[in-house]
Amino acid sequence: DWEYAPAPESPSIAALKDRYLPFIDGKFVEGHGDDVKTIDPSEGEPLTSYSTVTTEDVDTAVKAARRAYERVWSRTSGADRGKYLFRIARGIAERARELAVVESLDNGKPIKESRDFDVPTAAQHFFYHAGWADKLHHLGLGPEPRSLGVAGQVIPWNFPLLMAAWKIAPALAAGNTVVIKPAETTPLSILVLAEIIADADLPPGVVNIVTGAGGIGSALVNHPDLDKVAFTGSTAVGRRIAAELAGTGRKVTLELGGKGANIVFEDAAQDQAIEGIVNGIFFNQGQVCCAGSRLLVQESIAEEFLDRLKARVETLRVGHPLDKNTDVGAINSTMQLNKINELTEAGIAEGAEVWRSSCPLPDKGYYVAPTIFSEATQSMRIAREEIFGPVLTTVTFRTPDEAIAKANNTPYGLSAGIWTEKGSRAMGMAAALRAGVIWDNTFNRFDPAASFGGYKESGYGREGGPSGMAAYLHSDDEPLADGK
Ligand code: NAD
Repeated sequence: DWEYAPAPESPSIAALKDRYLPFIDGKFVEGHGDDVKTIDPSEGEPLTSYSTVTTEDVDTAVKAARRAYERVWSRTSGADRGKYLFRIARGIAERARELAVVESLDNGKPIKESRDFDVPTAAQHFFYHAGWADKLHHLGLGPEPRSLGVAGQVIPWNFPLLMAAWKIAPALAAGNTVVIKPAETTPLSILVLAEIIADADLPPGVVNIVTGAGGIGSALVNHPDLDKVAFTGSTAVGRRIAAELAGTGRKVTLELGGKGANIVFEDAAQDQAIEGIVNGIFFNQGQVCCAGSRLLVQESIAEEFLDRLKARVETLRVGHPLDKNTDVGAINSTMQLNKINELTEAGIAEGAEVWRSSCPLPDKGYYVAPTIFSEATQSMRIAREEIFGPVLTTVTFRTPDEAIAKANNTPYGLSAGIWTEKGSRAMGMAAALRAGVIWDNTFNRFDPAASFGGYKESGYGREGGPSGMAAYLHSDDEPLADGK
């Protein structure tokens, strides 16, 4: 029911262009950097290519965003900003099938996920934020909350289109203009979104998309003429950005890594819990910041529960992302594949018991069989470090207090899941868990109205909901950088 406009027959894969260009000041322009080949992770072969930008191009994009902010967007009424966002949302819905194919080819995720989750959730994000654009006075930030100005945004490769929507929609609804950089391995869907943005007649310079690797991300977030930086990616890069921007007075939000615990009590509805655990770690091949990558299961049911879980995981089909029957697709890059394999080897070397699904893997491409570690201890790397792959680490516990202590024993704090039929226990656990998002008897449920973000090394700031809007606005009781 998210499809507000009829979806025309989608252009097929053949519609993939030979070459993609960055989008600056309302136009697709040649970047002055090298051309880069994107790799199709399902085959390990080149897919298409794109032009990358230089530091000078980043400056051009920021200048365009500043001009658009001062001359047009800061003077555009909330109602009119909302109309543009509605148009973009409808444009995503109209080109949904094409976007899903492009996303699955570029990222490696199963088409049923890009079709049923990434693309519709991206459209929902624009619809939701369109509704905020003329209601900013309801945010509790004062009668006329002011936009910040120009936002520099950097996103990762695991949900390329959805992360673009998470960044662009609230920024525009609040009256800011943006310069955004996608990850170097997944620039395609956001450049299709750029066509949708252009077709929506968004004034030039309101959204600018610069392409390139980490150096371009660094040039962007350190550009002196930004008012806000929003970064989603690894904790290592987030820490570096926080240090670089310290003292600049710029608003910064960081959405970083995670090591989410899915906690299963002996009274849990087991079938339901098993589905939640499977979704928690195998959705998007486990390349999810809020993945439930640690299973904490009560000792009294651990053996039986693990047997049932493995039997269920054995039924998952690992395969080509464009096959509608695929449950687990390809890993995004060889770099990520190597990281997953290295951590899996570390788990085996440290003495955890490893189980792997016997599902056959395609001959070519970057694939990993669903893997479950048991008998892991808290000190092992597989229990502490973010693997970002289809690898689950299981630890047991006896009491709720022990579960809380183990779940919180991580530098991260993004997500957690609680599986119990006792409401009071779920509420008590939720209060004690140090994680920004806590799901009760479900997992990986997202809504643009619910704020998302982390504790500790998972970052700070929230995206989605009223707090996500506030992150792109000044509040009345906060001094303004320009002294007004
Ligand atoms: P990454 O940090 O290497 O890269 C993320 C983005 O930052 C890319 O666009 C990259 O080009 C850019 N970048 C790299 N170095 C930079 C620098 N010095 N300055 C500015 N930008 C720079 O992360 P990744 O490997 O692409 O993504 C995976 C990570 O992202 C995981 O750790 C995952 O948990 C995290 N993530 C978090 C969330 C969340 O909402 N918390 C969502 C998705 C992914």
